[in-house]
Amino acid sequence: MIYINKSVIDTKLVQMTIDSNSAYKIVDDASEIVDEKSNIYLEDRKDNYIRICPGTKIYRCCSYHNIDIMQGCPFDCAYCILQAYLEHDMIKVSTDTESIIQHVRSFQGNIRLGSGELSDSLALDNVVPFTKIIVPIVNELDNIQFEFKTKSANISNLLNLNPKNIVVSFSLNPESIVSKYELKTASVESRINAAAELIKYGYKVGFHFDPVIYVENYKELYTDLIGNLTSKISEDRIEFISISTFRAPQALLDSIKVRSKYTDLLNSDMIKSPDGKYRYYKSLRVDMLKTVYDSLRAEWKDVFIYFCMEHDTVWESVIGYDPGDRDKFELLFNNSFFT
Ligand code: SF4
Repeated sequence: MIYINKSVIDTKLVQMTIDSNSAYKIVDDASEIVDEKSNIYLEDRKDNYIRICPGTKIYRCCSYHNIDIMQGCPFDCAYCILQAYLEHDMIKVSTDTESIIQHVRSFQGNIRLGSGELSDSLALDNVVPFTKIIVPIVNELDNIQFEFKTKSANISNLLNLNPKNIVVSFSLNPESIVSKYELKTASVESRINAAAELIKYGYKVGFHFDPVIYVENYKELYTDLIGNLTSKISEDRIEFISISTFRAPQALLDSIKVRSKYTDLLNSDMIKSPDGKYRYYKSLRVDMLKTVYDSLRAEWKDVFIYFCMEHDTVWESVIGYDPGDRDKFELLFNNSFFT
């Protein structure tokens, strides 16, 4: 059910939401709403919506910026960090798109932005069509690259928007992992087909192998997945690919243990890293990253591949170089995109 704070009824995003949905309810505040994932609350929150991705000096991080317009997700991934991070299950959507646009326009220099940190960027786009507001703005700006990151195949609003600096990225895992741990998301086949469709409409696409999850036959599963992907997508339309193995703070491990049917996510030994998150042992991480990296490189020689939040020694072990600190790492993206 859609709930709308009475003070934001005249905002553009609310009006667009009402236009495409007949059922909604006006409320005074969130206390009137049952706190569950099926409820969407268009709220009056004012915030600093755009923030640089929280990085750490210990692991290699870039200068990606997140737009947190939506907090919460209708999907239900067993490993989702939001379980440990958000204090609500309902999906809260800020309607203050004017402030977001002003902030986006105010950036000097090249900036990469995305809306997939505290939600899935496209899962609800047919209900709350943020894409229709932000794509035309980004199209006017030469210094912004905007990424929609998704596990859906919900791309209909993106067709015919004449994208300029828009990347739509799809998180991928083998189907057996998707069906077991990524509940309510689109099948991996639908995600790959959606990427192929967007390419026809002028979009660049990206792929995130994140989190790569340990299962006994992971080599075979990820190699098969990449074989399927590379047979359907043309390398020259891919903006980037990220790879990273499963990692979790203690609070997320606790949530996974409570949902007992997912405890096999923790089958492999994990070690507490200096940033407080638990990761697979380094030798296993290197092996998993190398499996995915080598399979991709066997088909795609030039595509830009990076590891999210990994140690410089892991970079060295897998691909033989260290991308350097944040500014230096970001230059790799800039060289790939803004040239
Ligand atoms: S799609 Fe992303 S935000 Fe949504 S439940 Fe899965 S991991 Fe969490």
